[in-house]
Amino acid sequence: MSATQQGTDSHAEALAKIGSGLKKRTELALGDEFLRKAVAFTTDKLKTGKLKAADDFGDWETWRERGRAIREHVISHIDFYLAQFSDNVAKAGGNVHFCQTGEDAVRAFLDIARKSQAKLVAKGKSMVSEEIHLNHRLEEIGIEAVETDLGEYILQLAKETPSHLIIPAIHKNKQQIADLFSDHSGQSFPAETKPLADYARNQLRNIFLEADIGLTGCNFGIAETGTVTLVSNEGNARMVSTIPKVHVVVMGMERLVPTFADVEVMLNLLARSATGQKLTTYTSFVTGPRREGDLDGPEELHVLILDNGRSAQLGDPQFQEVLHCIRCAACLNVCPVYRQVGGHTYGSVYSGPIGAVLTPLLHQDYKEAGQLAYASSLCGACYEACPVKIPLHDMLVQLRHRKVKLKMTPLAERIAFKSYATAFGSVTLYRLANKAAYWAQKPLLRGGAIRRAPAPLSGWTQSRFLPMKPKRSFRERWQELKQELAARPEGKEERP
Ligand code: SF4
Repeated sequence: MSATQQGTDSHAEALAKIGSGLKKRTELALGDEFLRKAVAFTTDKLKTGKLKAADDFGDWETWRERGRAIREHVISHIDFYLAQFSDNVAKAGGNVHFCQTGEDAVRAFLDIARKSQAKLVAKGKSMVSEEIHLNHRLEEIGIEAVETDLGEYILQLAKETPSHLIIPAIHKNKQQIADLFSDHSGQSFPAETKPLADYARNQLRNIFLEADIGLTGCNFGIAETGTVTLVSNEGNARMVSTIPKVHVVVMGMERLVPTFADVEVMLNLLARSATGQKLTTYTSFVTGPRREGDLDGPEELHVLILDNGRSAQLGDPQFQEVLHCIRCAACLNVCPVYRQVGGHTYGSVYSGPIGAVLTPLLHQDYKEAGQLAYASSLCGACYEACPVKIPLHDMLVQLRHRKVKLKMTPLAERIAFKSYATAFGSVTLYRLANKAAYWAQKPLLRGGAIRRAPAPLSGWTQSRFLPMKPKRSFRERWQELKQELAARPEGKEERP
C-alpha cells in the first residue's frame, strides 16, 4: 500500500469514526492537502468546461430561464404530474411503488428482490439509493450489490461514500486507484487510465451478465409517456437497465418533466452544467419492460418513487424551489467552501451548497444538519452557476434564520446578538459600547492588531488578525472634518 493511499485511508477511517461534527470533519479535510488539491483541480476543470459550453450554446440566460420555468411548473403541479407519470408507467407495463420514507423504499426493493430470488444486484449510479442506504441493507440479508459506475465502483472497493454528485471519487487520483485495484486483485497496476479502466471493465462485464436485478436512478421521468430518462458517460446504465431480468428504478418524487420537449431543454442544461458536454455520451429512454418482439430489455420494470421529506417543502415559500434541483453539481464546482473541504465534510450524501440546504430540510434536522447553513460564504456563486436559478444563498440565510427562531444557536451567541441589537438600537448605548470596546481591546493589542483573541473570538484570529478599533469613530472624525472645512476662509476650499 502506498503512502498516498495510507493518507486517504486514514482520512476515511477518521471520518468514519468521527461520524458527526462538522467542525471536526472540516479540520480533518483542511489538514489533507492532497484532498484539497485533487478537489480544486477537478472542480476547476468542470467549472471552466461549463462556462465554455454555456458560452458556445449561446443565450445561456434564456435557456436557464426556460429550465427554471419548466421546473417551477412541474413542482407547482406535482400531484398532477405524479399521477400522470405513474398511470403511464403502468400503461406501459411497469409497476409503480410510492414510498413515503426511505425505509418504505428499502422494504419495497427487498420485496421485489425476494420475489425474484435475487442474489446479485448490478447498480447504475443512483444518489437516491445512497440516500436510503440500500447497499448496506442488501448486504445485511446476503444480497450482493455491485456499483457499475466507475467512480462508485472505486468507492465501493474503498468502502467510502461519494464526495461529489457526479464525480463520486473526485478526491482520489490515479495512483490511489491503482493501489486500490492492486490490493483488491493481487495484481500490480500502474497509475495509468487504460489498464485501470480495462480492469474495472472486465470485472463489471460479468456482473452485468449475471445480475438478477439492475438498479438505476432516474434523471428525468417524462409524465406524458411514463418514460424514465437515464444519462451516463460509461454506458453502464444502459447495460444495467437492459440485461438483468428485473429493472428497478429508484427516483425522488420531484424528478419529473411534463413532455419530451421539456426533457430536451433539461438535458441540454444538465450536460453543459455538469461536465461541459453538449450532451452526455449515452442517453437512454426506458418506457415499460420488454415488449413482445423486443430483442432485449427486462421482463419486469418497477419504479420506486420516494418522498422522504421532499413533500414537506411543497407550499413553503422559502424552500419549495429546492425541489427544482436537477443534481448537476454546478453549484459544488464553484463553491469556495466545497472546493476547500470536499464532499465528505458535509456528512451527507448530498454535499456542497445544494447539500447544505437539502440535508437539514429532508431530515427536518436544524440542530446538527442545520450547521451546514454556516458552511457558506454567501457569495452567491452557486446561484450564478445553477442552470435552474435556485437561490441557494438566500435559502442558506433562511436556514440560519430558522435555526435562530428555534433557539438552536449557542446561548453565548444569542446573548451576543441580543446585546448587539440593543446597542445598535440606541445612539447613546452605541457610543458607549464603542468607547468600551476601544478600552477593552487594549490589553490584547500587539503591533496595532489583535493577533490572538480570547474565546469566543479565538476562531476568528486563527487565520487572520483582528484590526485595532480606532480611538475616534468615523462619525466623530467626519464631524471634525466638517467643522474644519466650515472654519476655512471663503474661497479657500480645497478637497481634503
Ligand atoms: S442546486 Fe442547481 S447547480 Fe446545484 S446541483 Fe441543483 S441544479 Fe445543479
